[in-house]
Amino acid sequence: MGFDTFLSNPQAIASVKAMLAAGSVPGALLFTGPDGVGKKTLALAMAKALNCERRKDDYCGDCRSCRKSDEMTALTLEDLARRRAMKDAARRAEGLAYFDVQLIEPLTRFILTEQIRQMRSVAYTKPFELRHRVFIVDQAQAIHWQAADLLLKVLEEPPDSSRFILVCANPHELRSTVRSRCQRVPFQPASDAVIEQLLRTEKKIPTSHLKLALRMVSGSIAAAKNFDLEEFQARRKPWIGFLNAVAAQGDRTFAPSDWKLLFDSTKALADDRSNLEATLRLGYALLSDLLRFLADEPDAIRNLDLTPRLEVWSGQLGLAGIDRLKNGLDSAYRLQTRNVNQQLAWDAVAAGMVIQRE
Ligand SMILES: [Zn+2]
Repeated sequence: MGFDTFLSNPQAIASVKAMLAAGSVPGALLFTGPDGVGKKTLALAMAKALNCERRKDDYCGDCRSCRKSDEMTALTLEDLARRRAMKDAARRAEGLAYFDVQLIEPLTRFILTEQIRQMRSVAYTKPFELRHRVFIVDQAQAIHWQAADLLLKVLEEPPDSSRFILVCANPHELRSTVRSRCQRVPFQPASDAVIEQLLRTEKKIPTSHLKLALRMVSGSIAAAKNFDLEEFQARRKPWIGFLNAVAAQGDRTFAPSDWKLLFDSTKALADDRSNLEATLRLGYALLSDLLRFLADEPDAIRNLDLTPRLEVWSGQLGLAGIDRLKNGLDSAYRLQTRNVNQQLAWDAVAAGMVIQRE
């Protein structure tokens, strides 16, 4: 247990440990950097370290406070799930006053004003059981604009016993006034060596496919932990068939029926939302690779094993053909994020093709 279990970002961990050792953890911190590199995990670890009964600049994971901290995090997550399932008015139910460690995430597309108001009122009360109240605001860029002033007030003069850790990939998505009130801890993508080790030992990826897997997870430890070679190949296969068919016809004879080929074969895979998203992400990865050939950056290709084919497809489709593919994918993605039924999303891709051809 402790910070030495973290696989990457030694600099972020060193600065967090230094703050803890000096007993000078700022009231508001901002963890920024690419997705999947452990920002939220480190924030949760820090909540434990701020309260651990045995260690000062680290956490044991085993004392009463460390266990309480985990328990409270789990309970706030349950509370979020419960409130997400409620109708608007009921979401405002008060609560959470007994939780010294809280994880705040978007309830809808946004982190609502009610959530920030609740956080603020709890923050100004004494901790219930632990030394510090720690509020971790994940996906802080989703804080509703109406809540920004409320947040500013609390970040400006944080109560002594409360700490706030904002987590977000891109700090520029936050208001500059919010940003300037937080001490920033930047995170980097994990190194190839760390990810390769993880893929090799934990995921048992064969040497022949290591480079491909490494490119596909692009520096994300979370993506590496979830990477499944067989699933990846099964999911990508329909795209290969699709690209073979449409590219061979050049960009002139691109027709909705070509998309049907893709839909029919992806339908079995895209049977729920998360699946559809994963399938679309693969489509985007292929698309970026096609563009890399046009931009003369073949070294940055992610679908390494398809390099010769990608080069051929890219030449056949040209910029116009690739652009049309991108528009189709974008409309499917927009519908997907708006919770639209996946079949409709695929139909929209086909419809988008028609409209663009007219
Ligand atoms: Zn402990």
